[in-house]
Amino acid sequence: MTYRLYLKHGKEESLKRFHPWVFSGAIARIDGEPEEGEVVEVYTAQKEFIAKGHWQIGSIAVRVLTFDPEEAIDREFWKRKLTTAYEMRRSIGVADRSDNTTYRLVHGEGDNLPGLVIDIYERTAVMQAHSAGMHLVRMEIAQALREVMGDTIDSVYYKSENTLPFKADLYPENGFLTGDNKNNIAVEYGLKFHIDWLKGQKTGFFVDQRENRALLERYAKGRTVLNMFCYTGGFSVYAMRGNAKLVHSVDSSAKAIELTNRNIELNFPGDTRHAAYAEDAFKYLERMGDQYDLIILDPPAFAKHRDALRNALQGYRKLNARAFEKIKPGGILFTFSCSQAVSKENFRTAVFTAAAQSGRSVRILHQLTQPADHPVSIYHPEGEYLKGLVLYVE
Ligand code: SAH
Repeated sequence: MTYRLYLKHGKEESLKRFHPWVFSGAIARIDGEPEEGEVVEVYTAQKEFIAKGHWQIGSIAVRVLTFDPEEAIDREFWKRKLTTAYEMRRSIGVADRSDNTTYRLVHGEGDNLPGLVIDIYERTAVMQAHSAGMHLVRMEIAQALREVMGDTIDSVYYKSENTLPFKADLYPENGFLTGDNKNNIAVEYGLKFHIDWLKGQKTGFFVDQRENRALLERYAKGRTVLNMFCYTGGFSVYAMRGNAKLVHSVDSSAKAIELTNRNIELNFPGDTRHAAYAEDAFKYLERMGDQYDLIILDPPAFAKHRDALRNALQGYRKLNARAFEKIKPGGILFTFSCSQAVSKENFRTAVFTAAAQSGRSVRILHQLTQPADHPVSIYHPEGEYLKGLVLYVE
């Protein structure tokens, strides 16, 4: 059955500009009672069709899949969408490389597939549903993925235990949908990484920092590096290849420190330039000396929601202030925020305030963001979440 949902008067404006969400407050009424995750058709108050998408209870009530009334949401639909995503990654030189087998194939709204994330690690696709709708069609998507990617992948791992709303009673279980690839070593720009898709954060790796890590490598030569919030040690491994003098990795999670050490060992066995410490960031920054002249600050999202914004900005300010106090003259600071709720301007103001507090001369060398395989739909600017600044501190 087709469920029809009618908007309040004038609430179709954002959909006319192809924004892919319908907020619950915009809805006047629904014909029938769709289950969470089912496809609903959206109509204006004047009863004109405007979009169709996955229904869910919550502030975002519909995640739009198509604006075309004729387009069916079936197996061919998923195949078409995945083909478009794959073709894009191939045409921009991210997919099908021997020196880089780690990339994001589907980035939610950025690939017109709200609620779906797929990362590729060597021959395994790790799929994550952020909506009930994507959860319900996971097998169809996995099948379409096998057809589109051919023999470039042999396994699809599903990892949505922590990304789906628990109230929806979906009880997702992490596990392989097809295949059971045990090889979890993938390559990023020629460097090897253990990807922990079973227990790791996100899909097991922070694919989104690839280009920023590559940039860091260019600045690492001869420097004493602190990689704060290191997780899998991504930035550390690049710093090592970039001929850093010394690299220290810090994370409060012992598991992350273990992963970092494994990844360093995988690429630079026996190299004594690296050491890793399981410690709280603020404590470490407080007690450390002034030996570092390249510092990376890549904290977890301080603000997961808008209401946490004020505290988040304080957090960024305090964190960066510590780095400005301690970094050696002529030092370089790579500082990031991955909170969607924090805008580029907000983040820059927080870092600016921290710099001013230190009284040091600070220049912006680069303004960083997420890489091309994490595209932002021009109709969905909220999709731009990763912000970074590279600063030269006198
Ligand atoms: N830079 C990483 C990603 C960082 S994710 C990369 O390139 O892959 C954020 C990390 O911060 C997580 O590993 C988490 O364990 C760590 N973390 C969270 N709170 C922390 C704290 N107070 N002190 C130190 N590390 C913390």
